[in-house]
Amino acid sequence: MTQHVPAALPDRIRHYIDGAFVDSVDGDTFDVLDPVSNETYVQAAAGKQADVDLAVAAAKRAFDEGPWPRLLPRERSRILHRVADAVEAQDARLAELESFDTGLPITQALGQAKRAAENFRFFADLIVAQHDDTYKVPGRQVNYVNRKPIGVAGLITPWNTPFMLESWKLAPALATGNTVVLKPAEFTPLSASLWADIFRDAGVPDGVFNLVNGLGEDAGDALVKHPDVPLISFTGESSTGQLIFANAAPFLKGLSMELGGKSPAVVFADADLDDALDATVFGVFSLNGERCTAGSRILVERSVYDDFVERYAERARNIVVGHPNDPATEVGALVHPEHYEKVMGYVEIGKTEGRLVAGGGRPEGFPTGNYVAPTVFADVPPTARIFQEEIFGPVVAITPFDSDEEALALANDTKYGLAAYIWTNHLKRAHTFSQNVQAGMVWLNSNNVRDLRTPFGGVKASGLGHEGGYRSIDFYTDQQAVHITLNQAHSPRFGTGGPLQAAH
Ligand code: NAD
Repeated sequence: MTQHVPAALPDRIRHYIDGAFVDSVDGDTFDVLDPVSNETYVQAAAGKQADVDLAVAAAKRAFDEGPWPRLLPRERSRILHRVADAVEAQDARLAELESFDTGLPITQALGQAKRAAENFRFFADLIVAQHDDTYKVPGRQVNYVNRKPIGVAGLITPWNTPFMLESWKLAPALATGNTVVLKPAEFTPLSASLWADIFRDAGVPDGVFNLVNGLGEDAGDALVKHPDVPLISFTGESSTGQLIFANAAPFLKGLSMELGGKSPAVVFADADLDDALDATVFGVFSLNGERCTAGSRILVERSVYDDFVERYAERARNIVVGHPNDPATEVGALVHPEHYEKVMGYVEIGKTEGRLVAGGGRPEGFPTGNYVAPTVFADVPPTARIFQEEIFGPVVAITPFDSDEEALALANDTKYGLAAYIWTNHLKRAHTFSQNVQAGMVWLNSNNVRDLRTPFGGVKASGLGHEGGYRSIDFYTDQQAVHITLNQAHSPRFGTGGPLQAAH
């Protein structure tokens, strides 16, 4: 397949520290591949502890001495709106680079670029509208919340929709007045390098945004263990989250963990089945299935099961697999050969665990590149690995159920708890089921359409803490309580020799 190579690719991907693009202190680099040719198209600086030390020192200086934390919210907001303008103005270029680096279909990469701009606009607006609590004790006290940025935030991000997921952390961290060190995923460092110019041109002072590329076990680990980084916001696999949790423990850092998922989509017989079909096909095959909130386990009520499986399989077989840069493409190439091998491994496991009704290997006409045909397994028992484990590719498991109780038990029967999608027109069932399903987020009769004000996060192995809207503001700030005494102080009088009682 002919590869589309974007014009003017960088000659090298560098770190960005204190307002300058720099190589690693030791000069080390790593290969970056494109997922269609699987050839190295650029070298990226491989950051280690020395590079992280420099980035954190710059961020700390900018926090302790620079203007950023001390700007009025309106001033920071103006700058962040300029960031959003710049992202919007180059969304086509951004999508082209992202699609080239990650294998995401170009139309979907464009949607993610727009969402990244929207994240900046949202937090730029939120900080000027922000107000904090005051508590009155009549005649005695007024207490108020003095909200403060915390310091240097360490942001560690995954390779799926990298630019958008970076914006999700960068926007609230910067809006609240922190300075940051971003460590993007090593599979996909290309789009992250665009932030540097975007921030500088928008007027973000040097040292406020710093970027260190590198492997997780080197650059990521150094950031997690750096004593001058009080906050880590991490998105990635649950097992990496566990390791980071342990490594951050000696420093008692603030942690936000957005981790893996194996989310159920539950289809009851009374649902609008055409809508459910559209949403559940999109829910697992969009973004190449490399989506934390993918509805990758579909539970279907027995009376409509056979019909649903047949229609679902037909739709999956008709999905357009193609070059990521082709606007007609619905599923592109998986991010990296290592990930491709992992997903294909699950496809083979699935053949021993369920009934293959669509896909099951490489799509026809794609002898090279990380292409996987949209794959559907039916009759998958809850004991199956493809029911329990996150595959993170275009592979779905479908399982029948007979009652609400069984559907709920199946929905909750994994270690994960990120999202759930419920399809029913029965009012009581819809709410009862939603409230009992073990998921941080539930969509009723909808695919994953998210209002930026709502909490985002998972339960169980899917995460710790919530971001989104005011929860992000809470994560990136300290809420200092200031207690003011009105009139007399009310202290018990120690050392006076008399009975212990308050002065008044
Ligand atoms: P990953 O855990 O392998 O890597 C994520 C990031 O962590 C990368 O930048 C990596 O370099 C870094 N890292 C790895 N080891 C580290 C260490 N020891 N210390 C510090 N940093 C380290 O995840 P991935 O494969 O890049 O991303 C896919 C995973 O992310 C999936 O499990 C997916 O569900 C999850 N995800 C979750 C959400 C969510 O919001 N819940 C969103 C997107 C992706």
